[in-house]
Amino acid sequence: MTTPPRTLTIAGSDSGGGAGIQADLRTFFACGVHGMTAITAVTVQNSLGVSGFHTIPPEVVAAQIEVVATDIGVQAAKTGMLATAEIITAVAGACDRVGIGRSGVTPFVVDPVSASMHGDPLLSDQALDALRTELFPRASLVTPNLDEVRLLTGIEVRSQAQQRDAAKALAEYGPQWVLVKGGHLWDDPECLDLLYDGSEFTEFVGPRLEAKHTHGSGDTLASTVTSGLAKGLDMVSAVRAAKAFIQRSVQDAYPLGAGVGPVSPRW
Ligand code: PLP
Repeated sequence: MTTPPRTLTIAGSDSGGGAGIQADLRTFFACGVHGMTAITAVTVQNSLGVSGFHTIPPEVVAAQIEVVATDIGVQAAKTGMLATAEIITAVAGACDRVGIGRSGVTPFVVDPVSASMHGDPLLSDQALDALRTELFPRASLVTPNLDEVRLLTGIEVRSQAQQRDAAKALAEYGPQWVLVKGGHLWDDPECLDLLYDGSEFTEFVGPRLEAKHTHGSGDTLASTVTSGLAKGLDMVSAVRAAKAFIQRSVQDAYPLGAGVGPVSPRW
């Protein structure tokens, strides 16, 4: 057997198996890459929400990144829940040491996870600044949803023009590409995701899916893009493939517990 491309997720555990590390590993498997993990926090979570979390010491997060990168190698990496400014600083340092992100050669997708879909916080207030100043300049791609755009830029997106303004504002922090996901935008029957490389926009338009079970959809999108980059796709192709993948994954989502069920990754 040949060894598949290797991907690394730097993220939190979801005890309910819907989002976070668990969603990323399911997605990596479905995409045919070997998934590795640097766990940042353990959440206490079920289909109804996050009732607490315990963070992993920053030096242990950094060590997980370094040991897998130096032995196994990483073709692309992503972040999810990072919880605190101290963990973000440790991740930035470790990524620099092993060549992940723009100072190296390994594509780096930064998903600026700040809260669960139920509104439970997954990132401290002080950590927002660390995300913007320490991780965004290192990112190949940042993938905020509109709630995260508001927290990061102060822009309340209500139109496609504002979605473009938000992408430009985020590009100022130095990522190579910005993907502003328009999933929760206005009453449009279509859903626009906007990809921006600092000069040109690429639009991805898809049907608005009326789905009840969407837990983990953001993580699944970011880990699908990461898998595509690990396989050598260019950014536009990786995002296009990930959009198709997430649509099928949402259609295949299943009920779980009394709350919101997870999307189910499928090619
Ligand atoms: N829990 C963990 C550990 C996560 O990483 C995330 C999202 O990245 C969530 C929960 C939130 O997922 P959702 O927005 O689908 O509730």
